[in-house]
Amino acid sequence: MHNAALAELAQEDPQFRDWTYYKFDVVPDDLQEALATFHRKQFRGLNLTVPHKILAAKWVEIGEKEVELTEACNTLLWTPNGYQGFNTDLYGMTTAIETEFEIQLQDRQVILLGAGGAARAAAVACAKAGVKSLTLANRTVSKLETIKNVLQKVAACPAIDTCSLKEPLPNISENLLIINATSLGLDPEDPTPADLRKLPPSTLVFDMIYNPAKTKLLKEAESMGMKVANGLAMLAYQGERSLKIWTQKPPSAQTMFNAAQAGLNLS
Ligand code: NAP
Repeated sequence: MHNAALAELAQEDPQFRDWTYYKFDVVPDDLQEALATFHRKQFRGLNLTVPHKILAAKWVEIGEKEVELTEACNTLLWTPNGYQGFNTDLYGMTTAIETEFEIQLQDRQVILLGAGGAARAAAVACAKAGVKSLTLANRTVSKLETIKNVLQKVAACPAIDTCSLKEPLPNISENLLIINATSLGLDPEDPTPADLRKLPPSTLVFDMIYNPAKTKLLKEAESMGMKVANGLAMLAYQGERSLKIWTQKPPSAQTMFNAAQAGLNLS
């Protein structure tokens, strides 16, 4: 995905001919040492995935408020004194939802499923966008308190409700958007994280999972006449913003989306 966009940038600016995006497997115990090595070798930027996003946020200079709020960073930028941390997941999710459904997040009442790292980023993104209402739902309800506390630090945050995924979802009749940020659905045998049957067909359903391309949740929603989108565009947009931070150029999100889709064999 990144190399496809870099190849395109290189057509306009030859400096990017020498840029390559690599993948490294680093166990959490080795992360601090690995970051020091990448810095010494002048790797311009890094992306991090679970559980490194939270670990790294403790060690790097905070590049933007979103890192402070989510206590996580997925993007690091080289500076002479060390890496600076950013969290492009928020931009990725917001842009994906607004583009795929052609809506403004601020006009929506949101029910967010999950309380892990992705849900925390999604909750902050929803609060910052100024959604009309935000309901947090998770299997382990106690974990929602942590997210509620985080959201108190967001200016103009809407009122927050919480509920258990074992209960029926609140019956919100207008402008409803469901965001699945649980990992339920990664395995095609997984049950759906929530029962959609009492919700209106105008409900929009966004699942952060992109592989499989259509989870049981999305299939069920579609059979009820709801509009659905998976997380592939979110993956592409968070990557686009990371690459922009490193290159200071506007990479093509469409090129990144196409490359990710082809790479994952999802077309
Ligand atoms: P995480 O921190 O491990 O959180 C997992 C969440 O799933 C928790 O809320 C957990 O509930 C819930 N869960 C797991 N198994 C469950 C079950 N059997 N029944 C009910 N709930 C269950 O993971 P994460 O990093 O937040 O990622 C969550 C999902 O988002 C993953 O599928 C990941 O692939 C996706 N994601 C996509 C993108 C993208 O760019 N599209 C970016 C980030 C993440 P408990 O709290 O009760 O354990």
